[in-house]
Amino acid sequence: MAGMSKQLLIAGAGIGGMAAALAAARAGWEVRLFERAPVFAEVGAGVQLGPNAVRCLQAWGLEAALRAVAAFPAQLQVRSALSAGVLASLPLGPSTLRRYGAPYATIHRADLHGLLAQAVQELPAVQQTLDCPIVRHEDTGGAVLVRLARGKDIEGDVLVGADGLYSRTRAQLLGDGPPRFTGHLAYRALVPLQALPAPWRASQVTAWLGPRLHAVHYPVRSGAWVNLVVIVHGPAPQDLEHWDHAANAAGLEQALCGTHPELQEVVRSVAAAGGQWRLWPLCDRAPLARADDMARGLVALLGDAAHPMPPYLAQGAGMAIEDAMQLQAALAMHDVEVPLRLRRYALNRWQRAARVQARSQRNGRIFHATGPLRWARDAALRLFGQRLLDLPWLYRA
Ligand SMILES: Cc1cc2nc3c(=O)[nH]c(=O)nc-3n(C[C@H](O)[C@H](O)[C@H](O)COP(=O)(O)OP(=O)(O)OC[C@H]3O[C@@H](n4cnc5c(N)ncnc54)[C@H](O)[C@@H]3O)c2cc1C
Repeated sequence: MAGMSKQLLIAGAGIGGMAAALAAARAGWEVRLFERAPVFAEVGAGVQLGPNAVRCLQAWGLEAALRAVAAFPAQLQVRSALSAGVLASLPLGPSTLRRYGAPYATIHRADLHGLLAQAVQELPAVQQTLDCPIVRHEDTGGAVLVRLARGKDIEGDVLVGADGLYSRTRAQLLGDGPPRFTGHLAYRALVPLQALPAPWRASQVTAWLGPRLHAVHYPVRSGAWVNLVVIVHGPAPQDLEHWDHAANAAGLEQALCGTHPELQEVVRSVAAAGGQWRLWPLCDRAPLARADDMARGLVALLGDAAHPMPPYLAQGAGMAIEDAMQLQAALAMHDVEVPLRLRRYALNRWQRAARVQARSQRNGRIFHATGPLRWARDAALRLFGQRLLDLPWLYRA
């Protein structure tokens, strides 16, 4: 109706859904956000945010909130997991700020989610409902009808599926089956900075590359805590809910056999500080092949629902945030018909997201290389390290 704001429905209030709510409200839309979980419980883990993602947060006025909780590492350092020798490094800190106009940040997931949620909370145009999964949707051409697991069906002008890796919105829109297990497992833990061996307390992102595994650690919570991730090859555990932390921490020790004692010492600091490892089987999909797979009619996909990727470029959440920024621009095209606005969103996003998915997958092969490929990788990193680690095509856009 003329003069009335249009209504956007969002499935999922993770990082992508929250960013989409903020973006749509800023484009002048009314937003209803439906989250399956009864409470927000972002489990303890960290997220790296490249300057491309931080730039979006700045544009939404969230830089001060980010500065209050994130860390801003001074460099990225890549080491051999076998010799502990430095293979390459890239200055971050002021250097990233100068080159890309925004810093490189590392942050606890709950803090990132919290600062987006806080911004959304302040917007009267956004209504949130927790404990309310979206079961299915129907695009009638003039509206989207959404069936909720609880309460009445509702109607909106657009549905955004930001419902993550196992998106129901995607299943219904594309019908392309579940994501695939990559054969890689991520062990994640948080430790207080002081619990790490002294040489590893520097403000940096450290990546250790070894045969069939790699590890990454970086500061979060203004530098008071450190997020550790170790990625190894292995079968998907059957029952994650009843995962035996002690037994599997032993499994992790086993996987690290043969790596340098300094890396093992970093990993052992988790148990020594009373911390727990959590396990994520890593899943992905083939990179997007066309715009049509990000939006059809009145329904669009965003974040992991649209383009899940392994975390080897540390950009999954960054891509969800960028999606939201492009969605904002598309939704704000008030003279254009709604399906064409979503089409514009998809056209603007799919190739970049596909490139990041493909590069993340390739990094997985390079990071875990064995034999001659590992040798060539290490030689290339030693020779051209800074050039290989800096990614202007990714950070500048
Ligand atoms: C080990 C690891 C390390 C990572 N490191 C980084 C990193 O350094 N940098 C980075 O940028 N990214 C990183 N990522 C990726 C990042 O975590 C994800 O890409 C990002 O969280 C995706 O956000 P999302 O909102 O799309 O999905 P999710 O965070 O999965 O949110 C989806 C939400 O939808 C809800 N939901 C599901 N179904 C329904 C339904 N039917 N109705 C309503 N709600 C529903 C869920 O409860 C959830 O809250 C990493 C991932 C892993 C596994």
